Amino acid sequence: MSNTTIGIIGGGQLGSMLSTAAKNLNIKTIIISDDKDAPGQFFADEFIFCKYDNDIKIEEFCNRVDFITFEFENIPYSALTKIDSIKKINPKPSINKIVQNRLSEKDFLNKNNIRTTSYIPINNENELKSSQDFIPGILKTCTLGYDGKGQYKINNENEIDNLKINFENKYILEKLVKLKKEISVIITRFGKEKYEIYDPIENIHEDQILKYSKIPAEINKDLFNKSKEWAKYISEELNYIGTMCVEYFIDKNENLYVNEIAPRVHNSGHLTINAYNISQFENHIRAVCGLDKIETKKLYNAKMINLIGEDILVYRNKNFQHNEFFFDYLKNTVKKKRKMGHLTIIEK
Ligand code: ADP
Ligand code: MG
Repeated sequence: MSNTTIGIIGGGQLGSMLSTAAKNLNIKTIIISDDKDAPGQFFADEFIFCKYDNDIKIEEFCNRVDFITFEFENIPYSALTKIDSIKKINPKPSINKIVQNRLSEKDFLNKNNIRTTSYIPINNENELKSSQDFIPGILKTCTLGYDGKGQYKINNENEIDNLKINFENKYILEKLVKLKKEISVIITRFGKEKYEIYDPIENIHEDQILKYSKIPAEINKDLFNKSKEWAKYISEELNYIGTMCVEYFIDKNENLYVNEIAPRVHNSGHLTINAYNISQFENHIRAVCGLDKIETKKLYNAKMINLIGEDILVYRNKNFQHNEFFFDYLKNTVKKKRKMGHLTIIEK
């Protein structure tokens, strides 16, 4: 056992899979989470349960680890900066500040000449009603949304009155893209122009939640190259350390748009555990802990199925083939729309 310990903020399934990857590298893990039932505690070496404003526990956590990272981007910024002042976090909190907010995220991308959906900030009903150019569109809370939470699809202006939107939140209205496909590119950046990048992954969402991912993505060479180039450019511009995911839309005319940036390992990259020599999780741990960068190679084509809500109950009793890999996140209650596990199938 090495003497290195990594601290992970957040204890969902991404924290669990990061812990497993760290364990395989002989690195000890401590997860800190404000959810006492966080499933990550079953995978980490140690678990600290506390609210993110508990300065004493936060300090104890920082002092017991050598490196710090996080598994979800919506940790209160004040908590992140407090932690970062004691021990540096990677990726750095200033990146969270940009991508925690859909508006600043899209402003950042457009400033760098990277195409996004067209959008407009919305702070009240009048602004919404006078934004016909962006309808049909999707109204999204600027902060704290995930898996389609906090989103309203608006097909025409007449629907607005029925939506009962809470204008205490700030919103962004995005014009609806006529989607042909969604893809994502996962990249791990180790330092200036030093990265490992995975090939684009094709994703299918149901109810705004990721349901299926597969490699290779069926896209033309131009989109293949451009999506990788943009991911490199974004990670370089953010001076990113660790694994990051860029989610893209492709429209019916084969135009590429960045949908959003996830400053962390990503659900669409779960298949890298079984389909690549080095997974997105291992690469993240390697980058954050300053370990060697190893050339990352695809071993198999693969697809992944997310097991959402009650899907998991069937899979817990199933027998699997030699090329099927079942992951149970060990969440204590099954809830509708909750990611409970996944299955990766590799093509051997
Ligand atoms: P979340 O942060 O909840 O993942 P996203 O903005 O990625 O939110 O939206 C979730 C999904 O909803 C997308 O993957 C896509 O399928 C659909 N969606 C979101 N915005 C648009 C849009 N402007 N046009 C078309 N589809 C969209
Ligand atoms: Mg998304």
